[in-house]
Amino acid sequence: MKLPPDDAQATLGAVQTARDVSVVGFRQCPVCGGALTGRQKVACSEKCRAIRWRQGREVTRQARDEQVAQHLRTALRLLDGGQGDG
Ligand SMILES: [Zn+2]
Repeated sequence: MKLPPDDAQATLGAVQTARDVSVVGFRQCPVCGGALTGRQKVACSEKCRAIRWRQGREVTRQARDEQVAQHLRTALRLLDGGQGDG
C-alpha cells in the first residue's frame, strides 16, 4: 500500500494518539465510561455489570468462532496441498 506524500503528515498525527498505555491506576466502566470507585471492580453499577457480562459472553463466542475459522482455513490449505493465493 502506497501513500501519496500529502498523507504522510496525517499518518504521523494518527500514530501519536495511542495513549492507552499511559492509563494506569484509573479504572473506567467499560460500558458507560464512568469512573469506578474503590469497591467496583468491573462496572459502575449492576446494570452495567449485566451488560458487560453479556458482552463478555458475546466476545468469547466470537473469539471461539474466529479460532475455529482459522483452523478450518489451515485445514483447507493443507488439503489443497499448499496451493492458494498465499
Ligand atoms: Zn457504567
